[in-house]
Amino acid sequence: MVSSLRFKKDIYERVRHQMVERQVVARGVKDRAVIEAMQKVPRHLFVEEALYGQAYSDYPLPIGEKQTISQPYIVGFMTEALGLNGTERVLEIGTGSGYQASVLSLCAEKVYSVERISRVADRARKILDSFYCSNVLIRVADGTLGWEDEAPFDAIIVTAGAPAVPDSLVDQLKTGGRLVIPVGDKDVQELIKITKREDRLVTERLGGCRFVRLIGKKGWEKEKGD
Ligand code: SAH
Repeated sequence: MVSSLRFKKDIYERVRHQMVERQVVARGVKDRAVIEAMQKVPRHLFVEEALYGQAYSDYPLPIGEKQTISQPYIVGFMTEALGLNGTERVLEIGTGSGYQASVLSLCAEKVYSVERISRVADRARKILDSFYCSNVLIRVADGTLGWEDEAPFDAIIVTAGAPAVPDSLVDQLKTGGRLVIPVGDKDVQELIKITKREDRLVTERLGGCRFVRLIGKKGWEKEKGD
């Protein structure tokens, strides 16, 4: 069962539907579940109140601790790339605001999300609790190592840029499972999709993107200020 979130009516419904039409559907996202999830999830609640008016704009926004909530289109594109049908157990690395996790919660059975900064994870948890999002589990840890106790997963999504694909994440995919991850340098990356076949890994390149760094044992080294 995908989650049935309890959203209150809000004044952003129209602008949210416009966001989905103009930024997500118009650019080619077709998956009905993804489209409906993005129409429902109140994206403004994931940013601070002063930024509510920008929450449905076509760019990422700051969420504190030098981290960002991804651009709406990239959330739709990456979620569609996971090829979900509602029955999956999904691992997300980089909880951030919790927005991506909420969209996933409406497209999959259960979402396991890992965040390295505890204050960021706490904030996301509070937002998810505010609309009873009970099929997302958040853990504070180094996500480059995956979530071994809950592995294997049907799909894994990494929402921070990695220098290379962490082998631990590939190991924690089921046969037939999909991993979507930005890989590249610290400023620009390419989205990579890996499908784990019985005998081999199939790699697809999905295009350029920009994410904050994935920091951890199998990611970038921590720098001053991280
Ligand atoms: N998915 C988020 C956006 C992610 S921003 C959203 O919907 O808002 C990237 C997040 O990845 C940041 O919160 C950052 O702290 C986190 N992060 C970076 N390296 C990580 C790691 N090794 N493990 C877990 N989280 C990590």
